[in-house]
Amino acid sequence: MRDRASVVIVGGGIMGLSVAWHLAKDHGITDTVVVEKGYLCGGASGRNGGGVRAQFGSEENIRLMQESIRMCRDFAAEMKINVWFRQGGYLFLVRNEPARKNLEKSVRVQNECGLATRLLEPKEAKRIVPELDIEGVLLASYNPDDAVVFPWPFVWGYAECAQKLGVDIETFTEVTGFETRGARIEGVVTNKGRIRTNRVVNACGAWSPELAALLDVELPNRPHRHEICSTEPLKPWLKPLVADLSNGLYFSQSMRGEIVGGISNEDVPEGLDMGSSHRFLALYARALTRTVPLLGRVKVLRQWAGCYDLTPDANPIVGEVDAIEHFYQASGFMGHGFMMAPVMGKLLAQHIAEGTKLPLFDRWNLRRFAEGKLLSESMIIG
Ligand SMILES: Cc1cc2nc3c(=O)[nH]c(=O)nc-3n(C[C@H](O)[C@H](O)[C@H](O)COP(=O)(O)OP(=O)(O)OC[C@H]3O[C@@H](n4cnc5c(N)ncnc54)[C@H](O)[C@@H]3O)c2cc1C
Repeated sequence: MRDRASVVIVGGGIMGLSVAWHLAKDHGITDTVVVEKGYLCGGASGRNGGGVRAQFGSEENIRLMQESIRMCRDFAAEMKINVWFRQGGYLFLVRNEPARKNLEKSVRVQNECGLATRLLEPKEAKRIVPELDIEGVLLASYNPDDAVVFPWPFVWGYAECAQKLGVDIETFTEVTGFETRGARIEGVVTNKGRIRTNRVVNACGAWSPELAALLDVELPNRPHRHEICSTEPLKPWLKPLVADLSNGLYFSQSMRGEIVGGISNEDVPEGLDMGSSHRFLALYARALTRTVPLLGRVKVLRQWAGCYDLTPDANPIVGEVDAIEHFYQASGFMGHGFMMAPVMGKLLAQHIAEGTKLPLFDRWNLRRFAEGKLLSESMIIG
């Protein structure tokens, strides 16, 4: 393992690897080490639904995702790896009045930003997915440019291309501590040795608070287990990813034909638990078969779980912390960190390499919690 690096990125998920790739490609910083305690795809980046959407409530998230979707579209050609990118759109459903108002407001903002999102009466939604049972649905929204990808090759693509440019990726290597002088980092301590560096990125996803605590930095993020499952493959029939904003149900059909989906469950206690349960299957099956009754006949083949990385205001924590020099955060991406990683990696790499001050990183800074400047985002799944 390299004993010195310009930047050490802790966490080999999509976020850390995207930052590493952009540092190398955009800024020529190739002596970076990505330290990953497990294997690539072992964290949330290998356990998610692969949904990529620009339908958000805040202008900030919409504009970031417009850029990220463009980057996802170009990813396969640039990285020479098939990520099964498929633009079938996202169809959001709402079933109560406050959610309907919220959706109308969000779609207005989306249209102002140039998204092609349309509000649909339930009958029109049925034209997009004829198998939908629209009883109880008040309104829907559809953006044809939203998409799904297969997460694993996306992670591998970043990793392989970063390595080709000289980046080291150390798997099964855990960061256990830091060497510091005052507010300055001098080195990263791992179970396989030490790396001298002054710049560290915390890209540990749901484990980010644990890593930050090693430097006495307290993050307000909370890990929350989210379960997901996939079925036997079916002939392609479902175009969009369908998401119900009233209960957090979502499902899409992968390029291999499986129906992949999950649902929110607020009864799950916080914690770094990645176990699966029958309770999830029951909850998901009830909501799914109410929405598309035909799916009751389809067999579940596999279920798994990962951790969402939740923040108190549903917005991420990104950028340098005040207490420690050049200790950059890239966490708190709730259930949409995979889709944000392309654009975030690019922006964070620019910030690290050039010291560019981005207003976005001021708003998303950790200090907002102490200053009471909380943000909001109304279109969260889960
Ligand atoms: C069920 C589920 C469905 C989801 N669906 C979607 C979706 O459809 N679209 C979307 O955009 N997002 C989705 N998400 C969220 C998305 O997966 C995450 O936001 C994203 O993957 C976070 O990436 P990351 O790189 O920050 O974290 P991770 O992928 O979790 O990577 C963090 C890594 O840090 C490593 N690590 C931790 N501590 C240390 C240490 N001390 N030393 C070394 N390494 C360490 C971990 O082993 C881990 O591999 C979903 C998440 C789940 C769980």
